[in-house]
Amino acid sequence: MLNQSPMDQEEVIATNIAHVRARIATAAQRSGRRAEDVTLVAVSKTKPLELIQSAYRVGLRAFGENKVQEAVSKQEAFSPTDLQWHMIGHLQTNKAKKVFGSFAYIHSVDSLHVAQALQQVGERMQEDGQAVVRQPIFLQVNVAGEASKEGMPPAETPALARQIAALSHLEIQGLMTVAPFVEDPEQVRWVFKALRELRDALRQQLPECSWHHLSMGMTDDYTVAIEEGATIVRIGRAIFGARAKK
Ligand SMILES: *Cc1c(COP(=O)(O)O)cnc(C)c1O
Repeated sequence: MLNQSPMDQEEVIATNIAHVRARIATAAQRSGRRAEDVTLVAVSKTKPLELIQSAYRVGLRAFGENKVQEAVSKQEAFSPTDLQWHMIGHLQTNKAKKVFGSFAYIHSVDSLHVAQALQQVGERMQEDGQAVVRQPIFLQVNVAGEASKEGMPPAETPALARQIAALSHLEIQGLMTVAPFVEDPEQVRWVFKALRELRDALRQQLPECSWHHLSMGMTDDYTVAIEEGATIVRIGRAIFGARAKK
């Protein structure tokens, strides 16, 4: 993108988004749903604010970031009222204060420890007389059990969900997962199916929570995730291009 003028960049992003939206729509149809039932979260991590603003101008309203500091500085620079920020990265408990109440959704609650840290921030805000906030969250599940991935083990999720559901300042609205990296997305269909089945079981066990959302599917596997019931897909490279290698 280095040699492109800002206008060309915006056109590239607009074309990419149109392509992603078309694939979302056909995948949704295949699973008997409508395109509007699937929210596209544009993962803007490592990308400059100009690209986020371009994506906003061409119609995107939800952006995902995985690092607290980067997310907060982008929020400070650009937060039109109709824009939703999503936290999708692993949280350290000492960052709870920075994220609680400032994201539409926190996708990455992966332990009781993190949930309790968020709850404490909510309690303190209430004690200080600030508006009572219930932060919408998803529980991140490590379905494939990869050592390199965050997330609660599926077998432990029901017990953890029960404890987290009791925290008054958090509102569980569903589950999130990151599938293993594979060549052919069909190889991880079982991961998405397992997350959906876990969600269906939790819906029976804890009917007081909504369990509406399944945040699953990224650039390489989102059509399969949608076929298995994703309500939110988190897509970076297919919109903004490859990220610089670490
Ligand atoms: C980076 C990231 C994504 C987006 O990945 P792409 O392959 O660029 O679409 C989605 N979810 C999480 C949790 C991420 O960290």
